[in-house]
Amino acid sequence: MIIRLFTCRAIINSHLNAHLRKPRRGQDMARPSSDLAAFRDIFSKANNIVIITGAGVSAESGVPTFRGAGGFWRKWQAQELATPEAFARNPSRVWEFYHYRREVMLTKNPNPGHLAIAECEARLNKQGRKVTVITQNIDELHRRAGSKNILEIHGSLFKTRCLSCGHEAANHRSPICTALEGKGAPDPESQDAQIPVEKLPRCEQTGCHGLLRPAVVWFGETLDSDILSRAEEALDSCDLCLVAGTSSVVYPAAMFAPQVATRGVPVAEFNMEDTPATMHFKFHFHGPCGTTLPPALAHHEDEQH
Ligand SMILES: [Zn+2]
Repeated sequence: MIIRLFTCRAIINSHLNAHLRKPRRGQDMARPSSDLAAFRDIFSKANNIVIITGAGVSAESGVPTFRGAGGFWRKWQAQELATPEAFARNPSRVWEFYHYRREVMLTKNPNPGHLAIAECEARLNKQGRKVTVITQNIDELHRRAGSKNILEIHGSLFKTRCLSCGHEAANHRSPICTALEGKGAPDPESQDAQIPVEKLPRCEQTGCHGLLRPAVVWFGETLDSDILSRAEEALDSCDLCLVAGTSSVVYPAAMFAPQVATRGVPVAEFNMEDTPATMHFKFHFHGPCGTTLPPALAHHEDEQH
């Protein structure tokens, strides 16, 4: 047993050393700092912190994105089903896809990254300091971790919007309607359930009964202007910004974080890899957010409580 452990450690060490020896692109340029103590010093003085989170934070909880290599539901990827056109063509299929994603979330839980963010918000609030989470994730894991001040700029899997009256409602039912019970299997051989449109989720506002759709922002759609202006407001007033689990080349961090950095506000990136925007930021912490965020956001000795 001891020999086995030793061997494993030796393998891990040699792997690590090989990684560290590997020359990194842009090494000659002024790399952002990975000095945690320096970050913590700024963190302890910040009064208005914005944390932008993306798919990487959810991926650490095992939430599938249906994008990239291997990311298929049946024979489609998200960008083929998460569109208004796909829904207009085949609302039953799109609802099966979203029903499956909702049901999958029943088996997933917030990870230490989500929990560190939520705990930080609660603690700092007691000190009269503010934390705002701007997330592109639609899985509500921040909410389930206990975060309160969340801007879900891409909507939520657990909200619906009526196509007739526009009413939006929270909806955590499982299944969301009787006809979708047991449907939505992800394997490529599964047949479309071809649920008649009147059996799909329908609006419960008095006298409406319109067809509901998931209240998420689909490809080709614009962001909710109210949520976007609240995000802009938070970004314009923050004195520290964290970007976690999202590559800063991809929307929305591409839009938000560099804008904050040009104001001279420190931006700290927590990510698995460098991105072209990394060089514009003050800090970069490499690794899974579930590992890097808890020590970064933990109680600081200068905090009052
Ligand atoms: Zn309605």
